[in-house]
Amino acid sequence: MSSAYATNSFVVEKYKVYVEPSFANKSIVGSTEITVSGNTARVYDFPLYGLQVDSVQILNKQIPFTQEQSKLRIDLSNFKKVKSILIHYSGKPTKGLVWGTGYVYTNYDPCAWMICFEEPAVRAAIEIELKIPNGMQATANGDQTTNGKWRESRAYSSYLYGFAVGNFEIVTEKFLGFEAQYIGFSQSPDELKKKFKDTEGIVRFFEKKSGVAIPMKKYSQVLVPGNEAQEKQGFSILGTNFVDPILNDPSEDWVLVHELAHQWWGNLLTCKSWDHFWLNEGLTVFMTAAYKQNRWGQAAYDREMELAKKRHQNAIDAKFDVPLTFPGTYPSMGIKRAIVYSKGALFLDALRKEMGDKLFWKGIKDYTLKFQFKSVESKDFELVMEKAANKSLKPIFNHWVY
Ligand SMILES: [Zn+2]
Repeated sequence: MSSAYATNSFVVEKYKVYVEPSFANKSIVGSTEITVSGNTARVYDFPLYGLQVDSVQILNKQIPFTQEQSKLRIDLSNFKKVKSILIHYSGKPTKGLVWGTGYVYTNYDPCAWMICFEEPAVRAAIEIELKIPNGMQATANGDQTTNGKWRESRAYSSYLYGFAVGNFEIVTEKFLGFEAQYIGFSQSPDELKKKFKDTEGIVRFFEKKSGVAIPMKKYSQVLVPGNEAQEKQGFSILGTNFVDPILNDPSEDWVLVHELAHQWWGNLLTCKSWDHFWLNEGLTVFMTAAYKQNRWGQAAYDREMELAKKRHQNAIDAKFDVPLTFPGTYPSMGIKRAIVYSKGALFLDALRKEMGDKLFWKGIKDYTLKFQFKSVESKDFELVMEKAANKSLKPIFNHWVY
C-alpha cells in the first residue's frame, strides 16, 4: 500500500492520460496528469514497471523526483495545496500491454502504462487520449469525445482502466437508449454479429436482476486472438478461444455473460480490498449461472454449479478450503480461483436456497442500488442481505465467508 493512500486524507479526482504506442519496438511515450483534492502536502509513491520517468511538473514547473527500479517518489512536503501533478514518461512496460501484429490492448495492471494508485478502493474519473496510427481503430473507457479521446467522468477503480488499438472491424448495434459495439481483429461484420447476438438479452437480464440500468451509453466487446477474459469499465477484452465455441453451441456464452455482469458487480460496486474479491468474482460466476438458468434452463444452472463444486473440491483436496475473505497467500492461482470464484458462487447458491428466491433477489437489488459507485466489503453485503431476509444470516456467513 502506498504511503499516500494509507493516510487517507486526499481524494484522487481524475487521471488524464496520453498514450502514444510504438508498434515497431513495443514501447510507449506518455503522460499522466493526476488531479487531487484535500490535503496533499506529502510524499507520493507510485509503482513503476519498466517505464522511465522523464519529468514531474506542478503548475508548468519541473520539480525533483526520485526513481528507483520499481517506484516513483514525489515529495510535495514543500508545496501547499497542490491540485495536479503532471508526469511524463517513456519506455517498455514489463506488463499491462499485449502486443500483436496490428494491434495492442491492455489486460491487467494499468499502473504499468500510466502512473496510478493500484488499490481498488481508490476510485477516480479517467480521460484517455490515444495517438492512433493511420488506418487503425480504438476504444477506451467511457464515451468518445473527439477522435482519439475518451472520457469516463464517474469514479472507477484503476484496474478497470484500459484501451485497445488495432486494425479492427467495428459493428455497432443500437437498443433502446444503448449502443453495443462489437470490435474484432480479422473478423467479418457478419461473424461479429453472430457471436455477439445475445448481447441485448444479457444486458436486459442484469438490468432486471440488479434494478440498475446498464451504467453507460455504450458497451464494447473487443475480440482478440487467444484466451483473454478481462472486464474494463465500459468494455471487455475477449479471446477467440472462449468466444468462438458460441458458433457451434449458442449456450457456450459464459465469457460474454461473465464480463458483462462485471459492469455491475465488480465495476459499479467494487471490493474495497482484494480480501473481498469474492464480491466481484463469486457474484459474477453466480450471475452467469443465473443468466444461463433463465436463458437455457435449469440444467444449464445446475451444470455451472457442478463445475463450481468440482473446482472447489480441488481446494478441499489440497487441504486449502479457506473462508472467502482469506487474506493470506494462496498456494497457486488455481486454488485461489477455486475459493474466490467457485466457492463464492456456491455460497451465493446456498444463500439463495436459505433465503428463498423472492427475498434473495430483493437483497441483490437492494445491495446493488445502495452501493453503486462505491467500494464494498463482505459486511456491507451481509447487512443488506440480512435486512432483506428479515432474520440473522450469521450462521451461513460464518460458515462460508469469515
Ligand atoms: Zn471475472
